[in-house]
Amino acid sequence: MTKIIDGKKVSTEIKEELKKDIDRLKKDGSRVPGLAVVIVGENPASKVYVNSKVKSCEYLGIYSEKYSLDSEISEEELLNLIEKLNKKDEIDGILVQLPLPKHIDDDKVIESIAPEKDVDGFHPINLGKLVTGKAKFKSCTPYGIMELLKRYEVNLSGKDVVIIGRSNIVGKPLSIMMTNESATVTLCHSKTKNLIEKTQNADIIVVAIGVEKFLTKDMVKNGSIVIDVGINRTSTGKLCGDVDFENVSEKTSLITPVPGGVGPMTIAMLMKNTVKSRFEKNKKEVEKWK
Ligand code: NAP
Repeated sequence: MTKIIDGKKVSTEIKEELKKDIDRLKKDGSRVPGLAVVIVGENPASKVYVNSKVKSCEYLGIYSEKYSLDSEISEEELLNLIEKLNKKDEIDGILVQLPLPKHIDDDKVIESIAPEKDVDGFHPINLGKLVTGKAKFKSCTPYGIMELLKRYEVNLSGKDVVIIGRSNIVGKPLSIMMTNESATVTLCHSKTKNLIEKTQNADIIVVAIGVEKFLTKDMVKNGSIVIDVGINRTSTGKLCGDVDFENVSEKTSLITPVPGGVGPMTIAMLMKNTVKSRFEKNKKEVEKWK
């Protein structure tokens, strides 16, 4: 029988662990971690994400600054703001909510964030250092997936993993993180041939493409583990993932639901990265966060 991975529960556990660390800082009279969240324009989904990040900060006792910028803001003005935040002592992490309006170059903005404040883990320096397993910050969604698997005691060593979706924020970094844990990873995308042959042989399948019910029962082997990263809306407005959960879950040993699987972990890991950034400034605490 399949076990459903409870991302909400695990993310709450992580937040409670972080809260204890932050309470300790407060008790010692030390500065609490600080996160700056920048949103440009009126994208409704982005607003929801940003508000829940700010709310999580409030709950944990993380100091936060929210910058809601007009969609017409110039790239230069945005880069100037990031430059100021890079230098601000109270700020340990900077998050720029993507996507940005078309006239702003996402890559240029990401590269302008100081790598030591890049709590989203999107800066090329942090992405590059993932390869050697030495990234200061790991991208929050793949990091959250790794944490879920760890807390459900899934040993990746020697496992055949198929990841569908090769984005810079999910598929690619996850493929590196899993390779570093000795999994054998096949990274698939829209040009992949004979995908079904690959998924049918996989011990673990991660789907991150944004296509409702893409992974069907015939594509998975009995006893496999399925991680659903997708966030889609059905025609009736219901939230759903990339996996045909109802049918696929009949064959899996472990599976994440949508909502309540990977989603809550992304914010928890963002909070963890922010707290880590604060503690890294205090050498005595560093070991704990390795
Ligand atoms: P993305 O940039 O939207 O790219 C989609 C990827 O899926 C691409 O690599 C694309 O292949 C591949 N793809 C699309 N259709 C395919 C098909 N029919 N067969 C095989 N591969 C296909 O990816 P993303 O930003 O990682 O987002 C993916 C999904 O995850 C979205 O639903 C997004 O909302 C969700 N997401 C969730 C979280 C969370 O916190 N839970 C975080 C991030 C993203 P090509 O490269 O060949 O075009």
